[in-house]
Amino acid sequence: MDKNAIKELVSSLGEEKVVTDKEIVRLYSKESSGLSGNAIAVLFPESAEEVSRIASIAYRLEIPIYPQGSSSSLSGNAFPSKMGVIVSFERMNKVKNVSLIDSVAIVEPGVRIEELNFMLEEKGYMFPIDPASQSIATIGGAINNGAGGLRGAKYGTMKDWVNGLEVVIPDENGTRLSLGCLTIKCRHGYDLVRLIIGSEGTLALVVGAALRIVPIPERVVTILSFFNRLEDLLNAFVEIKESGVQPYIAEFMDKKTVELAAKGVDISFSPNGNMLLISIDTTAESSGRVMNWLVDTMKRHNAIEIQSALMQQEAEEKGLFKIRRNLFSAQSRLGKKEGRPSRVFIEDIVVPPSKIPAAVSKLREIGEKYGFIVSLGGHIGDGNIHPSVVYDPEDEEEKKKVYRWFEEVMEVSLELGGSISAEHGIGTMKKGGMKMEFSEKSSEKAIDIMREIKAVFDPKCILNPGKVFDC
Ligand SMILES: Cc1cc2nc3c(=O)[nH]c(=O)nc-3n(C[C@H](O)[C@H](O)[C@H](O)COP(=O)(O)OP(=O)(O)OC[C@H]3O[C@@H](n4cnc5c(N)ncnc54)[C@H](O)[C@@H]3O)c2cc1C
Repeated sequence: MDKNAIKELVSSLGEEKVVTDKEIVRLYSKESSGLSGNAIAVLFPESAEEVSRIASIAYRLEIPIYPQGSSSSLSGNAFPSKMGVIVSFERMNKVKNVSLIDSVAIVEPGVRIEELNFMLEEKGYMFPIDPASQSIATIGGAINNGAGGLRGAKYGTMKDWVNGLEVVIPDENGTRLSLGCLTIKCRHGYDLVRLIIGSEGTLALVVGAALRIVPIPERVVTILSFFNRLEDLLNAFVEIKESGVQPYIAEFMDKKTVELAAKGVDISFSPNGNMLLISIDTTAESSGRVMNWLVDTMKRHNAIEIQSALMQQEAEEKGLFKIRRNLFSAQSRLGKKEGRPSRVFIEDIVVPPSKIPAAVSKLREIGEKYGFIVSLGGHIGDGNIHPSVVYDPEDEEEKKKVYRWFEEVMEVSLELGGSISAEHGIGTMKKGGMKMEFSEKSSEKAIDIMREIKAVFDPKCILNPGKVFDC
């Protein structure tokens, strides 16, 4: 079957778009979570029409399709979990149109978020969803993972920034559908756009998107503070929120993670303690007043080191974001044993921001119970915490212990009225967690409904099978 499939795909797309070289296929079969699989080929379509042809062939021959942006997923969302073809969108990477009057950018799925923002910046605009991985994360991947980012405190996640989608569904004809509108306001029946956002490539292949864009704020004041006690940091954050201010960015990292993340980083201050990074968007006239208020608030909560910048460029020059940008690599190194293989397990829970202090205290207790060095950090502004541990994947006992820790972490989110995933999604790793969440809410039927929806879009279950749930 594999040979026939390859033959058909080559005759439909051309040889240069069907790669079967084992080393290349192996490379594309890995994702950032550390999970990997295998595939018969990687396909590189260059147009919606070619994606449609792939979907039609795959439907007829019943070949699993694994859509892929940059494979930077962290929950087992993008890797091929059984034999099939990987569809890489990296050659569909054009920004087709930007209209400031309509506040919209029309893009292909392989455009990287950072590239789009470089382009928009020249016009004084931005696309506000900025995952820490934005230099590699693609629009198609971010849409399908329902990604968020540092500015999530103010701007939410992908579901709030997509007006319309062009998609291909896996049926006999590889049918193309235009869903949603160019405009924000748009009412034409059920909202299929938002159904596809966060569906992790299990419902449709996204071949184009109309994204909302906004002007870059006139001024962004930033303050980076360090605290001996994590409780003081949390109280400072609570006071900011209680005063009615909605930060543009609100991020935190605990002391151990800061120590690692700061290693080798070129900055003129000495980071020490638990870190709170706050940015607030404002105007030239009020930036000084906002800054003074922030400094006062941090001091009142016993900050031991405060760095500040009145403008975004100044914040970059002083390196105020550098430590936060190193969170992932710091989390990957924490607790690593010399000479042993290691894998990082980055959790992604969310609680209402008012419950962050309670969540942090429970997460510390659980870490101590299992004897793990747990790194705590994340997007405190929207209640999204990424507790992480590093473990030895070849040590079966340790692996079991990590899975028990993982389950208890998800339970904490549910006890506090949150959810088991904020932005990384379900993939293969959180299928159990999703069941636990719906069962906790006495809503198991929701998963049956999702399964039925999946069958309508993808009756042969060939689109990213095994992700979110089994069909
Ligand atoms: C260092 C690091 C930091 C991160 N920080 C964040 C963060 O701050 N916020 C956050 O939300 N995430 C974060 N992530 C996770 C990840 O980077 C994001 O989810 C990102 O948006 C994924 O983009 P991608 O192009 O790599 O997608 P991929 O991983 O390739 O794919 C993601 C999902 O979308 C599907 N897919 C991809 N393209 C298409 C398409 N065109 N049509 C249909 N389905 C498609 C895939 O099958 C998969 O299910 C981080 C990851 C790393 C490694």
